[in-house]
Parts: sequence; structure tokens; C-alpha cells
Amino acid sequence: MTGFVGLDDIRRAEGRIRPHVQRTPMLADPLLRGCLLKQEYRQTTGAFKLRGATNAVLALSSAQLARGVVTASTGNHGRALAHAARAAGGRAVVCLSHLVPANKVQAVRDLGAEVRIIGQSQDEAMVEVARAVAEEGLTEVPPFDHPDVVAGQGTLGLEVLADCPAPDAVLVPLSGGGLAAGVAAAVRALSPATRIVGVSMERGAAMAASLARGAPVLVEEVPTLADSLGGGIGLGNRLTFAMCRALLDDVVLVGEAEIAAAMRHILFATGDRVEGAAAVGVAALLSGRIACGAATLCLLTGANVAPETFDQALKGRAA
Ligand SMILES: *Cc1c(COP(=O)(O)O)cnc(C)c1O
Repeated sequence: MTGFVGLDDIRRAEGRIRPHVQRTPMLADPLLRGCLLKQEYRQTTGAFKLRGATNAVLALSSAQLARGVVTASTGNHGRALAHAARAAGGRAVVCLSHLVPANKVQAVRDLGAEVRIIGQSQDEAMVEVARAVAEEGLTEVPPFDHPDVVAGQGTLGLEVLADCPAPDAVLVPLSGGGLAAGVAAAVRALSPATRIVGVSMERGAAMAASLARGAPVLVEEVPTLADSLGGGIGLGNRLTFAMCRALLDDVVLVGEAEIAAAMRHILFATGDRVEGAAAVGVAALLSGRIACGAATLCLLTGANVAPETFDQALKGRAA
């Protein structure tokens, strides 16, 4: 287990980020036998990713912060990193390809980040990240495969256990595995009997395929309502694959119609429009793939959903 993020790292992260992140509410859902819904989508920037990004940024020296942090993510991590860097008085650079739509580019600029538009693909944007690190001395803060990011995401585990100290099961949306690794490290240490289950979409779930194979594999990226769960885990994955393999009890996959039904259910239960990635745990419960009870806990991770995507889910159509 050497190199794994542990409870001490997560407690240190908690002390560091506490003034900068919200403590989010938790709600019992009577329609799901009292199952607990952690409303982390109410976090600043609309997703839990602010925890990991803030912890990684605050771990940097002031010289590193002043030179700047860099990422190629346009999604919840890019948003979180831009916000965290600005809050810490540092500089963030987000490298995007020409394919990224103008409204997304503007959203990143609005958070105070410098946007560099490079090339025609995510891969070309990643080349610019590597160049900025090598030639300008910027520090890359990756979206999941980094100990400070994992420790920051793990603070969500501490927070749910403060409200429900020994859950039967915790359902964690799973993509690159930074959230699952951090939450599992915290929960396994403090409540060893709790089952920790990663949940992904059936379409293009890279971590699930990698765990099944026993090594990181590439998967084809396909459209899904759970777009924040898309993308690979990195063939050279250093941390999250090993942690997920060691710490998750199970991985469950859910279909597009099930995700859509869960998004509608959560709207009904909370009044809030969450993104598909946030709804996969509830999808697993509603579909009966996992039994629910009063001590089952679902992490609702984000609410940055495009209105037209939510409308698709409302109409019951898959992506
Ligand atoms: C990133 C993200 C996830 C998955 O987190 P990983 O650490 O990549 O597994 C789940 N839900 C939302 C809303 C996200 O943005």
C-alpha cells in the first residue's frame, strides 16, 4: 500500500481546504427507503472537483503559484482549478483545442483563467500542457491521478461520515477514480464494514474495463448522459487504478435510460437538476442493481449540465 493516499493525508487536506469549500447538505430520500443523498453538486463551481483542485493548489509554493498551474480540462476540473488558483492569488492556464465551443471557452475565461487555443484535438491541447510545463515552468494539476487531488476528493468521505458514521454502502460515481480512491481511503479507514461501490455508465467506462482486465486499458469514448465520467484513466496511471483495485468492493454499470430516470428522480426528490454523472448511484438503486436502505449513501457529484442535455433526460431519451 506504499504510495497510497491515507487517512492522515486526507485529514491534512481537510484542514487545508476547509475555509475554501462548502460543507454540503445530505438528504434522506423517502422514495428510496430513506437512502441518503449527499448534495455535493451544491459545492462552489457546481462539483466536488473543487476539493482536489484546491488541495493541490494550496500545496504549491508561492513561486509555483505565481508561475501558474495548467490543465487541458474543459469540464468540472478545469472550472475548479481556475477557481482555486484565483482564490489562492495564483495564475491558471487552460489549454483548449479549436473544437471547444465558444461558450465553454468564455466560461473558463470568466473564472479568471488564461485560455490558450491550440490545435484540433484534446491530444494537441495536452501537448501544449506538456510544453508549458517544460518550457515555462508551469505546474500541471491533473484531474485525478495525483496524490494531492485524491486526498482533496477524500475529504468528501470524511464529510459524509460525520453525518452518517457507519453506512452500509457508499455509491461513488467512477471515472478516473480520484473521487473513488479518496473516498474509499477515508471510509475504509474509519468504517471498515462499509461496502464501497463505484458506479459508471455502460458506455465507455475506462476504469471498469481496466479493473476487469487487471491493467489500464483504452476505451472508445462515446456520447453518454454521464459526460463527466467519459475519458480514459491514462495507460501510465500511477495511483488511482491501484487504489481503486485495492479499495473498491464492486463496480456497477448503468444504462442511459436508467441514468435519465435517475436524473428525473433527483429533480423530483430535491428540486435540483444534476448532471448524468451525479445520477449514476441513484440509477443503480432505482434499477435494483443495488439494494437500498436507510444506511445507503449516494454521492451526487455535480450539477453542470447543459439545459438541452437535461431536457433529453426529462423526455426520457438517451444521449
Ligand atoms: C469528475 C467527476 C466524476 C468522477 O470523478 P473521478 O475522480 O474522475 O472518478 C463524477 N462526477 C462528476 C460530476 C465529475 O465531474
